[in-house]
Amino acid sequence: MVHIMKFCPKCGAVMLAKGRILYCPRCGYQEEITSTLITLRKSVVFEKVVERREDVHLDVPMGAIFDLNITCPRCGKKGVYYWRRQVSSAESSDTVVKVYKCASCGYTWVEGE
Ligand SMILES: [Zn+2]
Ligand SMILES: [Zn+2]
Repeated sequence: MVHIMKFCPKCGAVMLAKGRILYCPRCGYQEEITSTLITLRKSVVFEKVVERREDVHLDVPMGAIFDLNITCPRCGKKGVYYWRRQVSSAESSDTVVKVYKCASCGYTWVEGE
């Protein structure tokens, strides 16, 4: 939820947002949300997306190796983490797979060994 702090020019109370309208709960003064305020809202949303991408970067196990020569098949950027993971299955013996994770977009893929 995005909060827009703006004070009523008539009585000084904090105005509330309702759709694209700001209104004063004390005196009833209304005004349309200006483009400056809308830009502010967009930048707040953008910051949230960046935060989520940081989380993706951290979601790599201890001992993961960063290889700048591996290219991500989804975004085409170089720089991918990889690590080995043991997969147990009932039919066959345990197999070790190589897990790759793109540092740019977080795309994860697995390769058998
Ligand atoms: Zn007011
Ligand atoms: Zn990628």
